[in-house]
Amino acid sequence: MAVTTNEGWNLDNSYQRLPGFFYSRVQPTPVEDPEVVMFNHSLATELGLDAASLKDSAGLFSGNRLPEGSLPIAQAYAGHQFGHFTMLGDGRAILFGEHITPDGRRVDIQLKGSGRTPYSRGGDGRAALGPMLREYLMSEAMYGLKIPTNRSLAVVTTGESVEREVAFPGAILTRVANSHLRVGTFQYARNWGEKEDLQKLADYAIDRHYPELKNESNKYVSFLKEVIRKQAALIAKWQLVGFIHGVMNTDNVTISGETIDYGPCAFMDTYDKRTVFSSIDVRGRYAYGNQPDIGGWDLSRFAESILILMDDDEEKALEAAQEAIKEYLSLYEENWLKGMRKKLGLFDEEEEDQELIHRLLDLMEQHQADYTNTFRSLTLDQFDKTMRLFQANAFKQWYEKWQARLSRQHETTDQARQLMKENNPSIIPRNYLVEEALEKAVSEDDYSVMEKLLKALSNPYAYSEEQEEYAILPPRPDEPYQTFCGT
Ligand code: AMP
Ligand code: MG
Repeated sequence: MAVTTNEGWNLDNSYQRLPGFFYSRVQPTPVEDPEVVMFNHSLATELGLDAASLKDSAGLFSGNRLPEGSLPIAQAYAGHQFGHFTMLGDGRAILFGEHITPDGRRVDIQLKGSGRTPYSRGGDGRAALGPMLREYLMSEAMYGLKIPTNRSLAVVTTGESVEREVAFPGAILTRVANSHLRVGTFQYARNWGEKEDLQKLADYAIDRHYPELKNESNKYVSFLKEVIRKQAALIAKWQLVGFIHGVMNTDNVTISGETIDYGPCAFMDTYDKRTVFSSIDVRGRYAYGNQPDIGGWDLSRFAESILILMDDDEEKALEAAQEAIKEYLSLYEENWLKGMRKKLGLFDEEEEDQELIHRLLDLMEQHQADYTNTFRSLTLDQFDKTMRLFQANAFKQWYEKWQARLSRQHETTDQARQLMKENNPSIIPRNYLVEEALEKAVSEDDYSVMEKLLKALSNPYAYSEEQEEYAILPPRPDEPYQTFCGT
């Protein structure tokens, strides 16, 4: 293991103890004139890094200089992209090492946009500033929302331009993740490796993320079940805040249960299950309302890829896998329902809660109500007259039912309101706010709007005065908004 350097790095490279077939050694391609434009002070501190010496380390965050103990690699993986299976791999990302924090956590430190790798195919290995800032903002917002996610440590501009439809300023994002093991990593091993490779990968993943399973009699079945459990919980959390990932391809589904790969993701304004923002998702495969089912589809691909580890008897393996997969939707539903009860201030459970919840959602859909602000209004018990939903008689009837339901539980109104505040964000990174912040940063080199927005989003459950301005709806919610894959 590497010695601790003065910046606080304590790097290891456990992934490279897997067979060489899982990665390629590759150096970041130097960039001309790097400059740090975003630096996550609190994350650096949390990781035991020396924020003061890192905050201007453009050389390091650009890959021009590597810290002690770094042995950079690009990881190989495959994936189903919009249903089509293909070989992928880090085409523009480099893992410069696994940092061990002072409290013993192991996190991948990855540079995204750091140059070509053996997996780049036709791509240039580079990234544009706008999308990297967007990823930084969205991932940190998710962290603020208390949703498992990778984090963003820094963004540097490269001083070079990247050629897309037009030329954009180039940038590199430093990401921090519990790991970058994906469903796609297992698909890669299953398709192009030996059974031994697959088993080594599974053992590695268990060791890293589910060490409590190590001594189980059938640890691979338990492993599948745990990954399913984590993803069911994660996707329920997305649904509860109206987050749309946008590209739930199997290469973007983690084994750790964290959200990764913030490309065309966005938050829904108006409640509508069909909401899609991604320009390439023309059929709505990854629409808001499809996310839970697609999660199940992705996990089935995971189950298939580790099937041969689960039992020597093919029939038995299949049976175990099917049973685990069958659990997924009910686990998802359970998580979602639990979350919804909290959003409505309910501590206990009644049979009719489902009906109460679905009735509200139906009314929201019918009256094109803003998802976040509906729950925000219920939390504050303040109802904006301009929201059509709140004028509807059907809503007033629903409200009475809800009040009656609240009065049947032991907890006080204050306790219910507190629970609601903890579960209904007062603000989300609305599309127009994100665009405004990025536009200022990219076109005017003014990062103050983005910094201010990030600060407000660091605790979206605060219901503070500074957050008021961010709760205002755009003149035309959602409609014209389109997101791109961020290449
Ligand atoms: P993503 O849409 O970011 O999940 O990327 C899908 C695949 O395309 C991954 O293998 C990426 O590494 C690769 N890729 C995306 N953009 C580029 C690029 N500019 N250069 C090389 N590879 C890329
Ligand atoms: Mg990806």
